[in-house]
Amino acid sequence: MSQYMNPRFSLFDAYTPGEQPQDRQYLKLNTNESPYPPAPGVQRAVTAEAVQRLRLYNDPECSKLTQKLAETTGLKAENILCGNGSDELLAFAFQAWGHQGAAFPDVSYGLYPVLADLYDVKAVKVPLREDYSIDDRDYLGLPQGLIVIANPNAPTGLSLLPRQLAHIAEENPGSVVLVDEAYVDFGGQSCLPLIGRYDNLAVVQTFSKSRSLAGARLGFAAAPAALIKDLRKLKNAFNPYNVNSLTQMLGLAALKEKEYYQLQSRAIQQARESTRDALGHLGFRVLPSQANFLFAAHPQIGGEALYLALKKRGILVRYFSAPRTRAWVRITVGTREQMEELLTDIRQIIGGIRP
Ligand SMILES: *Cc1c(COP(=O)(O)O)cnc(C)c1O
Repeated sequence: MSQYMNPRFSLFDAYTPGEQPQDRQYLKLNTNESPYPPAPGVQRAVTAEAVQRLRLYNDPECSKLTQKLAETTGLKAENILCGNGSDELLAFAFQAWGHQGAAFPDVSYGLYPVLADLYDVKAVKVPLREDYSIDDRDYLGLPQGLIVIANPNAPTGLSLLPRQLAHIAEENPGSVVLVDEAYVDFGGQSCLPLIGRYDNLAVVQTFSKSRSLAGARLGFAAAPAALIKDLRKLKNAFNPYNVNSLTQMLGLAALKEKEYYQLQSRAIQQARESTRDALGHLGFRVLPSQANFLFAAHPQIGGEALYLALKKRGILVRYFSAPRTRAWVRITVGTREQMEELLTDIRQIIGGIRP
């Protein structure tokens, strides 16, 4: 750090993204990207004309994309705000609604505590149950502020039902309950149908995972109009042109390819279940995931050791060094063939451990 840096950030730990190595080719099972390309219609949207239009500023309101999102979610345009990835919308949420504090699960998306620190939000971390699930009863009657729950949760893959999240919203009328649905398209149940029924329930979704557009940076928030106004105010204060025009077009094209993405999601869910079985046979404990990743622990090898052994063999997975997660690795579910490759290497690694 330089001598010019604000001392407030001297002890500040920023988010560590999963590795994106640019040197050698790995089988990347570490950042929950899709193994499949974006839909054909999305690829066709990148025309010379679309590139030429980059000369002009993009539509700061993302009007067409917002309208299409309203149609597909059954909401109105006033209930939608697009963001530069859902991470950006999460940042706006912490700024807008975190001044009295925020609560989130103690094993969840690593960006939440970072945003709390960044925006000076006092964080209450609510422990998961022994079995790594979220107990909705732990979220009833929390102090006022922002409550953020990833559903399905990461890195566990476990979910709550919409009615449980609705109950949390009902029991915390002084707080905004924000449901982060980054992985909902892989078998979870969305809270989108509940938007508007509660003044304080909001959802964020992303195009990064189930729609194969991680590099395009696109997410959206769905919420009652008053909450969307709050987020839009912060967006217009920070970066009014937050979603570039190419990404707006790609997002619009992706929304027209529902069937393509449903097929990919089904294939990923099938690969997930067969991989879960296979890991179970190898002695792993694997949580029942409803996301595009598996959270797995083996009694004979820790998370970091397994990560390193796989990396040596050209496969990247993710491990987390916190006490409750250090025995585990999070493995992104790829194609069936990629999962076979993973299992072959894991069999060799496990077979080579002396008892
Ligand atoms: C991947 C992920 C996101 C967001 O990603 P963006 O690429 O910024 O849209 C948000 N929440 C969780 C829990 C995630 O895993």
